[in-house]
Amino acid sequence: MNKMKIPNGLESDTMLTIHDTTRAFERAAPTIAVLPIGAVEQHGSHLPVGTDCLIAGHWAERLARELNAYLLPVIPITSSIEHRQARGTVYLKAATLGSIVQDVAESLQYDGFRQLIIVNGHGGNWILKPTVRQLNRDLDGLMTILIDTNVGIRRAHEVMEHTANDIHAGEHETSIMMHIHPELVGQVFEPTDRRFYPQDYLDYFDSTELTEDGYWGYPECATDDKGRRMMDIMVENALDVIRKLTLMRHNKTLK
Ligand SMILES: [Zn+2]
Repeated sequence: MNKMKIPNGLESDTMLTIHDTTRAFERAAPTIAVLPIGAVEQHGSHLPVGTDCLIAGHWAERLARELNAYLLPVIPITSSIEHRQARGTVYLKAATLGSIVQDVAESLQYDGFRQLIIVNGHGGNWILKPTVRQLNRDLDGLMTILIDTNVGIRRAHEVMEHTANDIHAGEHETSIMMHIHPELVGQVFEPTDRRFYPQDYLDYFDSTELTEDGYWGYPECATDDKGRRMMDIMVENALDVIRKLTLMRHNKTLK
């Protein structure tokens, strides 16, 4: 297989992307596919609307590299209806996203893949959970694993000053963006309103009705170093989850 150039300028012999040919896929015969899922929605006044796409894409690429997998392109537009009042936000109905993921999984199963790793960068994509649960009953031979930001949450306190109420465009997301795309992070505006509503209020109200300028957290505490350390934890913990589930699947030690 030819060495391929990937977006960050590094080269990989093992990870496959849409830049590779069918012949390269035949030679490498990958069995694992990694599918990043983002969102196109407001992220306060200092982060781009594609923040979740960029974080999911970066995270997925690191996992695909470790797993010698096929890195699929990011599914960018997802369940962001709660941000609809902010300009630049574009969204799908949740059921549409579920159908897209189901179709992708079926086509990967047909193509001989054994594992689909979904890397979700957007907390509002609730439909992924029942979708994955169903896929793992419906599709023989393909195990679908859902990796989302909760994967790193238990160790977030090792890095972040705030682990509660830092949900959107706050310390966590801003730090990661400072690490992976510093050129896209604008002036951080320190919110004055520190009332945080329960996250499930988004079932009833739009984010613009609940937050000041779309912030839900502590962006002023973000640093690129925190982002680098958090991303390392997210990669490490995701690989741990994938390895444990793969082992259980093979050994059938389920009780
Ligand atoms: Zn986000």
